[in-house]
Parts: sequence; C-alpha cells; structure tokens
Amino acid sequence: MLNKHSPVIIVGGGAFGLSTALHLSLAGYSDITVFERDEKIPSKYSAAYDINKIVRAEYEDEFYTQLALDVIEAWKNNPIFNPYYHQTGYIVATSGSAPSKARDTLQKSLSSLTNRPAFRNEIKQLSTKDDFRKYAWQITGPLKGFKGYFNRIAGYAHSANSLKSAFVACAQRGIRFVTGEEKGKIVELLYEGKKCVGVKTADGKVYKAETTIVALGAYAASLIPSVGNFAVARCWSVAHVQLTEEETDLLRGIPVVNVRDLGFFFEPDPATRLFKLCPLGAGFVNTNKSNGISLPPPDRLPPPQDYIPAEDERKLRRLLQETFPWMANRPFVDQKLCWFSDTKDSEYCIDFVPGTENSLVVLSGDSGHGFKMMPIFGEWVVDLLQNGKQKLERWQWRKEDQRGVDWGSSVNWRIGETRELKELIVEKEGMVKARL
Ligand SMILES: Cc1cc2nc3c(=O)[nH]c(=O)nc-3n(C[C@H](O)[C@H](O)[C@H](O)COP(=O)(O)OP(=O)(O)OC[C@H]3O[C@@H](n4cnc5c(N)ncnc54)[C@H](O)[C@@H]3O)c2cc1C
Repeated sequence: MLNKHSPVIIVGGGAFGLSTALHLSLAGYSDITVFERDEKIPSKYSAAYDINKIVRAEYEDEFYTQLALDVIEAWKNNPIFNPYYHQTGYIVATSGSAPSKARDTLQKSLSSLTNRPAFRNEIKQLSTKDDFRKYAWQITGPLKGFKGYFNRIAGYAHSANSLKSAFVACAQRGIRFVTGEEKGKIVELLYEGKKCVGVKTADGKVYKAETTIVALGAYAASLIPSVGNFAVARCWSVAHVQLTEEETDLLRGIPVVNVRDLGFFFEPDPATRLFKLCPLGAGFVNTNKSNGISLPPPDRLPPPQDYIPAEDERKLRRLLQETFPWMANRPFVDQKLCWFSDTKDSEYCIDFVPGTENSLVVLSGDSGHGFKMMPIFGEWVVDLLQNGKQKLERWQWRKEDQRGVDWGSSVNWRIGETRELKELIVEKEGMVKARL
C-alpha cells in the first residue's frame, strides 16, 4: 500500500483528475500535484468544458445504474457539487421514424429503472403529444410519432462550473496545481527500469513522484501509447442556439430531452443564454495510419471548429422542427467537436499500467458517460491505491488489441457509422468552396 505522504502526481485536471485529487486528499494523501496543460481550470481541452452534461441513471447494466443512483445523491448532498446539479427531469423518446435499434435502446433504458424502488412513481410513459407537454409544456412542435417516458430523478450538471468548484476545493486543501502549455503540459513520463518515477513538462522540468496517475481523457495515448490499443479518441458534435432573455425565461425548467435517433438538448444556460444541442451518433475518430491509434489532432484547438458535420446539423434541425419549430432555422453558434476516450464495452479503465510495479495508474475510457460520476469517481482511485490492484474485472487494463477494428457502430446505445476526421475536413472544405 502506498504511503499517504509519498508524492503523487496527477496528469490532467479534467473531470477524473480533479475528482481523484479531491478524494485522495480527503483520504489523507498529503503530497499531491496536478499538472494541466491549459492555463486555467476548467481547461478548454477537457471534454467537460461545457455548460451542461446529462446526469441520469438509465443504463443497460445494473452495476452502472446503482453507481449513478449513488452519484445523484452525491450531486445533491456534496456542497462542492450541489450548486451545479439541476434535477429538471429527463425525457427519453424516439421519433416516428426511429430505427428499431433506437426503440430497443429506449426500452432497455426504461426497464433498467422500472424495477427499482427509487423510481416507483417517478417514471411516466409518454404516448401522445399531450403526454409530452405535461412535462415540457413549452414544446409546440408536432412530435410526430414520438413515444417515450419521463424520469423525474435525473437532470443535468453545469460541467465547467463543477470543474472550477472542484479545483477551488482542491486548492483550498493544499493540492498544488501546475498549469499552462509550457509549465503544466506533460510531454514525457520518466522511468527508472520498469518503474515510472515522474514526469517531464514542456519547458523541460522534471518532477518526481512515487505514483503517477494519468487522467488525460481522449489524450491518454499521447503519454501511454498502449492505452490506444483499447481506448479510442472519439468526438461528437456540439452546437448552440443563442437565445434572447425572454426565450431563455420561456424555456427555464424544461427537462433534458433525449430523442434517441436524433439528439438531445437542455434548458438554456441563464448566464450565456445558450441553448445546447448534441446529435446522437457513432462520431468521428482520428486514426494515425502508421500506428493505428486515434488521438485528437495535436493543434491548440482541434480543427474543424465552428462547424459540425452536415448530417449532424440535419438531425438537430429535425429535432428542433419536432419540438421548438420557432428555433429550427436559427444559426448554430459555438459549434465544436468534443473529444472523449471510448472503449468497445463502454467500461472505464481505472488500473495500474501492467509492468510498472504499481507506479503508474491510468484513468481512461470514460466512453462518453464519465462526467456524471465526478463527485464519487476519485473514491474508486483511492480504493485502487489502497488495494494495490483493480478488483473489478470490468475496470481492469485490457490486454486485447482493438486497433484497426471498427467496433464504434456496434455499441448498443449508439446509432450510425464511425467516420474518420479527415473525411469531415474534406466535407468542410467542400462546403466552404460551394459558398464562394
Ligand atoms: C459531446 C460530449 C457529450 C458528453 N455528454 C456527457 C453527458 O451528458 N454525461 C456524462 O456523464 N458525460 C458526458 N460526456 C463525457 C464526459 O465529458 C467525460 O466522461 C469526462 O470529461 C471525462 O473526464 P476525463 O478527466 O477522463 O477527461 P477530460 O475531462 O477531457 O480531461 C482531460 C484533461 O487532460 C488535460 N490534458 C491533456 N493533455 C495533457 C498533457 N499532455 N498534460 C497535461 N494535461 C493534459 C486536458 O486539458 C484536460 O483538462 C460527454 C462527452 C462529450 C465529448
């Protein structure tokens, strides 16, 4: 077991890194340093640098349903996080033209909740437009063929504000932060024999540690290439509509609405009046042909920005026509691709890197559903360090090499085909030329 006063380095100040720093400190670890490449936290490179993320307990796997129920209690009761949790409820639906995979996923989501006592009286089936309007009266669109349900015990959290709050709490507990493209960006892990003994920053400084924890989300394979054998950097689109003050007031309190074959949206953010939408699909990867590993593009901000794929835009405009037609032709602003770390079975990886004598830990494979776990995620890393091994098979390091296998479209809860980022760049350039 690691001595609690030994130096621990955490690389990455995103959702998993900050939660880990906080919980290690709460467990008595006293010498913790977090390295973050952005100048400030919340970092614009974090997948959680966003105005909202869904917090819900629908999972096909009971194990995650229970964890999500536990974390919802933490969202409500932990003062570091509770100002940012909004239990607006959650509508899950399919449109009239949804493929059977989307309808099946919805049924699986629903049945993951209906047998649980916590959800007795909290779930309502929705079959008609009037049913939907009971929970989101602001919807004026036709909702053609929509079917679904409303779940009261769910909502969203303001993710960038949650990161900031966790960062402040960590700093107040004496955790050190080293940030910035030169001072905070880690370019190399240092080894003595098999043991990882610390890190090197972009400005060439060396920091030593007994344990190094890599929490880089989509960027994990940049420091530990073998993570790229089983965890793929993948991105999904995000777009926003800029609302007026009156429009923001109108939509205040709407539940999160997730239409499994189109996409999802949230109540507008009161501070920025942005209404966020995300299309649902298999997303894009950025595979390096020479080693088969997908990583986000290395530039300061990944291209293309202020653009989302035409197919995703079509889905979102249809979603708006069905729900808020008055918004359907408004320009999309702050369009972006958001990168996360994806695994074939949507399981996280919270484990020691094999062959490093328990000196190196990797936290990866959030698979697009990790943010909600932020209030409790770090507890699982404390367990790992105290037990000296990952007891849960599902969160162990994967030996299987998945490079070159396109499993993205076979994930149960996703619809569509995975595409390569370079195809999107070609698409974007084509659109720019067509406009000239
Ligand atoms: C479009 C989209 C929608 C999502 N929606 C949801 C949702 O509704 N609900 C949900 O629960 N989850 C959602 N997620 C997933 C969620 O955002 C992630 O699970 C979560 O952010 C993962 O945390 P992380 O710490 O692993 O990675 P991140 O939060 O991405 O953090 C990684 C950190 O590493 C830093 N970094 C990178 N390289 C270096 C380096 N060399 N040196 C130092 N620092 C470095 C980055 O700046 C960043 O701060 C969504 C993700 C996307 C992309």
